[in-house]
Amino acid sequence: MCYAIPGKIIEIKGDIAVVDYFGEHRNALNKFLKAKIGEYVYAQGGILIDKLPESEAVEILKIWQDKFFELKKTDRRLAKTTTTDSTVYSHPLLELMQKVNLNKELTKNELLTLLKAKNRDELNLIYTTANNIRQKEHDNACCVHGIIEFSNYCRNNCLYCGIRKEADLNKVERYRMTEEEIFNAAKYAVKELGFKALVFQSGEDEWFSEEKLIKLIKEISKLNILIFISIGLRPKETYKKLYDAGAKAVLLRFETSNKRLFEKLRPNTSFDERIQLIKELKQIGYIVATGFLIGLPDETDDDIINNILLTKELKADMYSFGPFIPSENTLLLHHKVVDKNIVLKAIAISRFVDRDSNILVTTALETLDKDARTQGLLAGANSLMINLTPTKFKKKYMIYKRRYDAQKPIKEEITETINMLYSLGRAPMDINYED
Ligand code: SAM
Ligand code: SF4
Repeated sequence: MCYAIPGKIIEIKGDIAVVDYFGEHRNALNKFLKAKIGEYVYAQGGILIDKLPESEAVEILKIWQDKFFELKKTDRRLAKTTTTDSTVYSHPLLELMQKVNLNKELTKNELLTLLKAKNRDELNLIYTTANNIRQKEHDNACCVHGIIEFSNYCRNNCLYCGIRKEADLNKVERYRMTEEEIFNAAKYAVKELGFKALVFQSGEDEWFSEEKLIKLIKEISKLNILIFISIGLRPKETYKKLYDAGAKAVLLRFETSNKRLFEKLRPNTSFDERIQLIKELKQIGYIVATGFLIGLPDETDDDIINNILLTKELKADMYSFGPFIPSENTLLLHHKVVDKNIVLKAIAISRFVDRDSNILVTTALETLDKDARTQGLLAGANSLMINLTPTKFKKKYMIYKRRYDAQKPIKEEITETINMLYSLGRAPMDINYED
């Protein structure tokens, strides 16, 4: 099973390769792989990551040939805008959707109106319009990334996070995967499970020094995958060295655009410093996934809209946001859980404000409802992650009260996810490279 379809290079334009997928052409960055016209390649996140022999590619493409077009048909059918209640046609919301369809920018007040929509038909209209735009912008391409959570030690004390430094030691059993365990988990994900992009995530664990991280990234690079790192705040220089060692993508959320809330919820950390780092990561050349939590204490609707606008302003290559899930190991345990539809509306609104963005459905959203992942993909999202942390560690990475998948065998989880994607007509094809 592969989470990317191979394509053939048909043209080279400087650092960009034009890759053909059954007659469809996509741009990918060829700066690192330096592949030639006629070669078969895999791309992830708009970057060419690996070549494969023609004979192997032809075999894989034979299997995909019919499925590729069949999936597209399903996706197009599901993306058609429909509404069941005729009263919605006279609703002001319809005017907003027309504006969206004409590619006109919505004002902040209009975005707030969308966020406040409650009625089932209104929600349906918002989600299907967003899904329709997603289909037009990305066709049925869907990125499927794996995530490996390699350490739950953290020097920080974010009030919302279950693995914060001062979390009750009786409840959080700390672990650190060894370099060998991390590499073996990555190798298994690539060789056995077919992943082409992996996220390596941890608390801010200084035990993993710059040297250790560089060594690890260099080792993992040999697997020819897109390496994402999600390790929190480190000096810009360290991130540059990790980029040179082979990490090409970063997942670092700004958590909330409300500076006062940020500094209250993340004691002794600075909002400005985090935003500055995200900007610097883009300058280094990283693919940047960033975003926020939804439903934090004292958060307003205005904050949610500002979060979406800040993600756009930061030129995120991937939007990563999800619900705040109160954690047993924090004083916020009894805080109200956010309504799933707020998160789905935020996905749709992100699609409206940044039409060709890549929007991730997070595992936290699944915690609210096991169908929420499917609903997120039908509300404008085009990307998802599967947790590949070895089970004995996954149970301990309790950033919030765990996720329904915590005990499920990895292969079962992958099969379910791929079947769900096929039922929606989505194919694990890569996105276009944009400079
Ligand atoms: N330490 C790194 C950092 O903070 O960027 C990476 C690991 S951290 C656990 C990854 C993400 O988990 C954070 O960006 C935060 O948004 C999310 N998170 C933490 N606590 C959460 C909670 N209670 N509910 C949902 N997401 C949470
Ligand atoms: Fe540490 Fe990240 Fe959790 Fe904050 S969110 S306590 S930095 S792991």
